[in-house]
Amino acid sequence: MDLLEYQGKQLFGRHGLRVSDGEAVTTVEDAVAAANRVGYPVVVKAQVLIGGRGKAGGVKLADDEPQAREHAQNILGLDIKGHTVRTLWIEHASDIATEYYASVLLDRSEKQPLVIFSVEGGVEIEQVAETHPEKLIRRHVDALKGLSREQAVEIATEGGADEDVIEGVADALTALYEVWTQEDALLAEINPLIVTPQREVKALDAKVTLDGNALYRHAENQGLSDSENEDPIERRAKEQGVQYVALDGDIGILGNGAGLVMSTLDVVAGAGGRPANFLDAGGGSDAGKVKQAVELILANEAVKAVLFNIFGGITRCDEVAKGLIAAFEEIKPTVPFVVRLDGTNDVQGRELLQQASLPNVHAAKTMDEAAEMVVALAAGRDVGAPA
Ligand code: GDP
Ligand code: MN
Repeated sequence: MDLLEYQGKQLFGRHGLRVSDGEAVTTVEDAVAAANRVGYPVVVKAQVLIGGRGKAGGVKLADDEPQAREHAQNILGLDIKGHTVRTLWIEHASDIATEYYASVLLDRSEKQPLVIFSVEGGVEIEQVAETHPEKLIRRHVDALKGLSREQAVEIATEGGADEDVIEGVADALTALYEVWTQEDALLAEINPLIVTPQREVKALDAKVTLDGNALYRHAENQGLSDSENEDPIERRAKEQGVQYVALDGDIGILGNGAGLVMSTLDVVAGAGGRPANFLDAGGGSDAGKVKQAVELILANEAVKAVLFNIFGGITRCDEVAKGLIAAFEEIKPTVPFVVRLDGTNDVQGRELLQQASLPNVHAAKTMDEAAEMVVALAAGRDVGAPA
């Protein structure tokens, strides 16, 4: 879950990182009032989930009220790489002596947290990595011990921070690492981390990605998702506790177990189809859960056919079939379904489906056969009588 800059800064502030005071607003009048309160000069900043706002005209300094008004008018509604600006962050502008870069992220290949620091801040870090790789310092942190003071100072020193701000940079790195661990973030990045002429070290920007799967541990962060830009079906699924990801095809997919669902996506794509979603129904087989899942899939109007891929293990296929039959009798789907039942009690499960002779429901034995059938059905081709 990506946070807007100002939300990230609020998290930073809670962990002792220095940030400027400011206000989030959604109208020009509120922007002007906020600017008058925080005091000029102010910086008017577009709040969108995409970097490079400055270059796109989404970050502007204002010395007085008329300028603040003009910038707010220009930036609200601005399109930045496909993201429409609906919120502005107005903060008191900082004087900048130097711009650094700092981030903490998870290095999945090393299975360790990684701290990155550079004195070449304010520009895209990928660019620094390419042109001045020697100016980018990367240090893994022992996740059990955390980032020690010695290591933070070492990173600041070896990274080439000015002598007189080594302690300040180490403080910032320590606070950033605390944000990353205590808030269950996947990424916490500051670009630029500035040094002011008074030699204060301060976060001028914030890019934070929180781990959505850990959100239940952070009641205070649950309201932070950018619901305006979220897929409405994904939001509904989240509320229902269902693992659903919207995709852009026309074949609805449902399976039990994340691994099986992912391979189902591959097999459908391999058969020439385009999946409309990922949905993991998890274990269990009760009709209520199946109904809920089917309703989510069908809420997407692009769906022309649905593939149910169930591998029976502890969950028995005959139980799943009963759940499906109960659910289908209630929902009466109008698009064709292909149901593949394999594993524990699969023969009984397919028999039950056959006996129920539900309209629009076709039984398949293997994953490949099911994929071929659903792709044909989505394309409007006949695959023979149901079940
Ligand atoms: P980004 O373009 O999306 O990364 O947005 P940033 O928040 O990083 O702002 C872009 C650039 O605007 C920064 O690198 C700074 O150079 C400049 N900037 C942002 N805030 C201030 C400020 O308070 N004072 C000054 N002088 N420059 C600022
Ligand atoms: Mn930035």
